Amino acid sequence: MNLETGKYYWPTTFPDPPSYPALENEIVCDVAIIGGGSSGAQCAYYLAHSDLHVVLIEKGKIGSGSTSTNTALLQYSGEKMFTDLINTFGKEYIVRHLQLLKEAINEIEKAAKSAEIDCEFIRRDTLYSASSQEDVGRLKNEYDFIKQQGFELDFWTKSDIESNYPFSREAAIYSYNDAEINPFKFTHALLDYAVKKGVQVFENTPMNGHHYDPQEQQMVVTTKTGRSIRARYVIFAAGYEGIDIKKEKQASFVSTYTVTTNPVADFSSWYNRTLIWETARPYLFMRTTADDRIIIGGLDENTIYPEDRDSKLMHKKDKLIQEFNNMFPNIQVKPEFYLSAFYGGTVDGLPIIGTYDEYPNCYFLYAFGDNGTVYSQLLAKLISENITKGNSPDMELYLENRPLL
Ligand SMILES: Cc1cc2nc3c(=O)[nH]c(=O)nc-3n(C[C@H](O)[C@H](O)[C@H](O)COP(=O)(O)OP(=O)(O)OC[C@H]3O[C@@H](n4cnc5c(N)ncnc54)[C@H](O)[C@@H]3O)c2cc1C
Repeated sequence: MNLETGKYYWPTTFPDPPSYPALENEIVCDVAIIGGGSSGAQCAYYLAHSDLHVVLIEKGKIGSGSTSTNTALLQYSGEKMFTDLINTFGKEYIVRHLQLLKEAINEIEKAAKSAEIDCEFIRRDTLYSASSQEDVGRLKNEYDFIKQQGFELDFWTKSDIESNYPFSREAAIYSYNDAEINPFKFTHALLDYAVKKGVQVFENTPMNGHHYDPQEQQMVVTTKTGRSIRARYVIFAAGYEGIDIKKEKQASFVSTYTVTTNPVADFSSWYNRTLIWETARPYLFMRTTADDRIIIGGLDENTIYPEDRDSKLMHKKDKLIQEFNNMFPNIQVKPEFYLSAFYGGTVDGLPIIGTYDEYPNCYFLYAFGDNGTVYSQLLAKLISENITKGNSPDMELYLENRPLL
């Protein structure tokens, strides 16, 4: 899959990351993880706390997939409002989902703080605004629901917004304690942590085949380097390319665009350097970075053809800057990095742990959705618990055949 094109920002923040050898031996292990993006690293992080022999292989370099284009706003609210998800899954289900998302952000913070490499994790509040007058009622219902669950958030009027920002909206949810991170450093940090606890990592080691050996009750993963890994469990954490390994009917893709600007000297008009997004679909979103840049993203297109996606990049880059200028006319920016990328979601709005009869003892981690990093943390923890403890009660919320209403 041609995942993305452009000039990426995150890898430039860590020009000399740890590197790992290609696999050159036969390996027998407990758990094999396929994919060295943030999802694979999050699985490795949890499993590093067990006494299992864990091996991770990455076909290219660590963090070179969607992880390097991830804008890495860490939020619990996502593209589908919780009040809409309740219609599909029921209230109790979604209340639990919401709690798990909050815990996942706490878990990311804990993981980021326990690693030696600084991941630039910073707690941020979020401004989630109504894009039009018609969205105000829906946003208020969403606010009421989240507030009832004990979350810390306020409902802002037009004048609240105008007195804190240089732009105006009809209303907004102002929520506390979301976060931002550097996803490239985070991935390296978790793997560095895991390797120090005994996890083995191999780069430039593409998986090119796999089968189940019923006699040994092992999955056999073969690599392009001509080696094989025999494992009791396999976690496929291949990001959006996971669907090239096993099709998942719930997965859906669009094209998206992001721009990262030059560093900015004065953020005084940007209240608390909040994460900013809105109710329109597709939505525009923005955040700041540890080195004072601004990342602006959105303007999604309904195309899954790379040529089509990439042909619009220059226009989208200009449009994203223009949208930003409309909101913050007093902050002068120029685009220094910009990219187009595929972005995966799921039809029903929840991420998926795929477990299939033809793949015994295997887990497909499809953390698809706008909060992919948060979903990955949540799913990685559930999968690891399932492997190490033999069960994980919350896992059924995310199975591909999850119970619907
Ligand atoms: C533009 C954009 C913006 C986003 N913004 C946000 C955001 O603000 N907040 C958020 O939470 N999420 C966001 N996401 C989602 C987030 O990027 C993803 O959820 C996350 O990066 C996925 O990580 P991953 O490890 O699953 O996938 P990847 O980073 O793609 O990693 C998968 C890895 O598997 C490897 N691989 C694939 N096939 C094989 C094979 N056969 N053998 C060996 N290795 C293989 C790949 O090389 C790759 O390195 C965004 C996504 C995009 C595209």
